[in-house]
Amino acid sequence: MLNNLTIIQNGDASGNGMVAKIRLPSGLEIVTLPTKNFYGGHWDLGPTWNYAVMADRPFLVDAGRFGQGRLLVDMMDTAGIKPGDLEFVLISHSHEDHDGGLAELVELTECRVKAHAVYDVLIRQYPALAPRGYKQAFPAKCWHCNMPASFFEKNCLGYHQVLQNLEVDCIGDKPEKIDKDISTIHLPGHSPDSLAVVLGSEAIIVGDVVLPDITPWPTRLEQYDEIAEVLTPIYPQAGALFGLNCYLDSLAKLKQIVDRTPDILVLPAHRLFYNDQWNGIQLSDRLDQLVQHHIQRCGAILDILATGMKEVDEIVQLHFKESLLEGPGRHMAANEIVSHAELLQACGDLEEVEKHCYTATGSRNFEQHIASKS
Ligand SMILES: [Zn+2]
Ligand SMILES: [Zn+2]
Repeated sequence: MLNNLTIIQNGDASGNGMVAKIRLPSGLEIVTLPTKNFYGGHWDLGPTWNYAVMADRPFLVDAGRFGQGRLLVDMMDTAGIKPGDLEFVLISHSHEDHDGGLAELVELTECRVKAHAVYDVLIRQYPALAPRGYKQAFPAKCWHCNMPASFFEKNCLGYHQVLQNLEVDCIGDKPEKIDKDISTIHLPGHSPDSLAVVLGSEAIIVGDVVLPDITPWPTRLEQYDEIAEVLTPIYPQAGALFGLNCYLDSLAKLKQIVDRTPDILVLPAHRLFYNDQWNGIQLSDRLDQLVQHHIQRCGAILDILATGMKEVDEIVQLHFKESLLEGPGRHMAANEIVSHAELLQACGDLEEVEKHCYTATGSRNFEQHIASKS
């Protein structure tokens, strides 16, 4: 699937710096621009794979982490793409490893920015609506972040203040044509503003919605409540943007695409190349694996609850290996359990006795519910 690929500049074993050109059967070329993405600790997603799509007016998907904008411009130069060639950059979703370098990139290239309409809401400040205290200086997308203020102030504040001033051309929920035979598709769930870019019947740039090796984490429905005041005017329903159910609906949308075009080339935002090898994704198989993963996790949570009511922390402890719970791992593990518990609750398989404390009802409707999506 990655057979028509020419390496322009070699990268390291994780793929950092690997500039390569992929030529699709129609002749359309895509240039890979992976930039460093390491937050420290045990978690390594590998670099962020930004892609330049060499359409009539080239555009970029994603802008790497904060501080990577200049490097991205230099890598494009290696591939013969000049700053003035870029028509726009499209942001796959609002996570910092995808939009961190955005402001710098816009300054260097003067290109336009396209993103989902929710992105445009999340990057703005709302001092009157923000939680009291230090978070008032941060945009809505940071209100639920669990990192301490000392981390925020050192690493994020500057980046968010620059983003405030960006003008964004908003993309809606319906597929939108952004170039000849190229359109967007809204795939919320991992992030409320996730967009994929469909290149005819040849390729799809999926952001973090589908990754090799890694199961993208789903958001929690309850995250909507934290930013409801800024989202309700355009999105009154949490389930349309957040949660595992929403993520599984997005996978079902991808399933429809793969049913039409089984051999579509999938370009993920992490690990296209990792551990010294290229990772082609067979989309149909990968979607099945991801769905099975979530079915198994839902089942495992109900098994744990079979012995009685439990708090989220107890379920985390019983479900995950201790080594996965170090550092930010514990927070991510709790996110996993809550997002699955929300879906189980909606299916009637579980009840939330008090906040994040659950009991099983004895039913297992979730399997039927998830299976019915595809
Ligand atoms: Zn992400
Ligand atoms: Zn990512």
